[in-house]
Amino acid sequence: MTTALLTHEDCLNHISPYGHPECVERLPVVLGALDGPDFSDLRHVEVNLATIDQLKLVHSQEHIDHVLGLVPADGHAMIDGDTYLSAGSADAALRAAGAVCQGVDLVMSGDISNAFCAVRPPGHHAEPGQAMGFCLFNSVAVGALYARSKYFCHRVAIIDFDVHHGNGTQTIAENTTGIFYASTHQSPLYPGTGHVFDDGKGVIVNAPLAAGSGSNAFRKSLENRILPALVEFKPDFIFISAGFDAHKLDPLADLNLDTDDYYYATEEIMKVARKYAKGRVVSTLEGGYNLGIIGECAAAHVSALMKG
Ligand SMILES: [Zn+2]
Repeated sequence: MTTALLTHEDCLNHISPYGHPECVERLPVVLGALDGPDFSDLRHVEVNLATIDQLKLVHSQEHIDHVLGLVPADGHAMIDGDTYLSAGSADAALRAAGAVCQGVDLVMSGDISNAFCAVRPPGHHAEPGQAMGFCLFNSVAVGALYARSKYFCHRVAIIDFDVHHGNGTQTIAENTTGIFYASTHQSPLYPGTGHVFDDGKGVIVNAPLAAGSGSNAFRKSLENRILPALVEFKPDFIFISAGFDAHKLDPLADLNLDTDDYYYATEEIMKVARKYAKGRVVSTLEGGYNLGIIGECAAAHVSALMKG
């Protein structure tokens, strides 16, 4: 069983304004935590840029042109109060989406069992026609629709345990046959979507958690809602939106997960992947803003991936 670690130094060149939580330093922290002897079996892959055709599986040409056209020669361009571009943002965002697609290629070729994409900016808030919430392109959705169009995977699941609801990913799942989207997230919280009554619009399973919820509530929402629905869906490929901002030490939200919860959640998803999807899993980094803790969270997550 081989797990690939997909990344590219271009992802360091998406530079947020001073004090922004989605900062460059997040990536070296994550990569540093995956650099010890426990991770010596990881296959390191330098990722390609996503192609425009790959982005167009999810995004309108107008959105792609708009985002790429906003990239400033220096300084920052603002999309909204949370979402900025710097001179390196286009290549970073294209590497992020490209990583998920390349992970799909590697998994489908049998070269590797599964993959973790250590990339930024994150993607799950990006709507087909709107960048928002630190996200420019919806990388995980681009990868999911790529698996569907290139490899005829017709039962593709996306599991999102970032503390924020992946509004963009849900929109895309609602409008695409054969895409399952399940999310645990704090509610109420940005972006204000992800209510339980969203269920029934396609294959959407939202498990909102009240502020202050911890490991027990998180694990129960997986055991009682998300995993049974995932088993019923019988995915042929599973993607993970791996945000680590539900950790109790994260500064942006108020859930109280422990590092072990990321190992647990990943292991449970892997069980379903082995049973129905030939172990095919591609995970990508979303949020996680405590620089002192996201490394060990990512290490717990990748450890479970490496066990296959
Ligand atoms: Zn988040």
